[in-house]
Amino acid sequence: SRRKIVAGNWKQNGSKVFLENFMSAIKEVEDVDVVISPPFPYLEKASALSAKLGTVSVSAQNASLYSDGAFTGEVSVEMLKEVGVEFVIVGHSERRELFGESDLVVADKVSKVLASGLTPILCVGETLEQREADETIAVCSRQISSVLDVVGVDTFENVVVAYEPVWAIGTGKSATSKEAQEVHAAIRALLSDSLVGLGDKVSVLYGGSVKANNAIELFSQEDIDGALVGGASLKIEEFNEIIKAAG
Ligand code: 13P
Repeated sequence: SRRKIVAGNWKQNGSKVFLENFMSAIKEVEDVDVVISPPFPYLEKASALSAKLGTVSVSAQNASLYSDGAFTGEVSVEMLKEVGVEFVIVGHSERRELFGESDLVVADKVSKVLASGLTPILCVGETLEQREADETIAVCSRQISSVLDVVGVDTFENVVVAYEPVWAIGTGKSATSKEAQEVHAAIRALLSDSLVGLGDKVSVLYGGSVKANNAIELFSQEDIDGALVGGASLKIEEFNEIIKAAG
């Protein structure tokens, strides 16, 4: 159901020592679910620490489309579940662009994650070129619809959506709260469609250069339920400020 979530995507960063420092420094805020997403080798330790401290949930950044088998270099959802992971980021723009994940692959991965009982964080968002061609809403709608088509309305209720405009990722150039709200409202409208009926059930997070100094403004928008944070999630104090801003 719709709830406030602040998730930190470490991407290919971090270390064991950083994880330990990070986990002990996280400050809980009422009514905000905090999620951290370190690289695969740190997930088990992150889960163990989170079980002990009870402050955060743990997410993987990707998962295999397949169950166990001859898939060199891949990690299955069953393995993630066994080490205590609760969320999986699916379809991040870096996966789509650098690793060739199509809408269909993303949809099948979301389906796989849902079937295992984990929660997918489905990333959608337009490139700068698409924004300039006025295709933002169409692109996000297509990315979400392709998942809806595969998983169906009933299970999509367990999906968390993250709107991440590609041009705002890692650039320091966040969407303005107005630009973000406009797309979030369109996503909410798509989910509120009478055939889907999920408008008040799905959390829609914003991602793309979220910092301590723009978080409050972004979170004040009606349809923004939290954030998927990249760079600033590697700075413990700043990440705590973003969590606080969501509360
Ligand atoms: P930045 O916060 O570094 O822009 O990254 C956003 C992101 O891609 C989170 O998944």
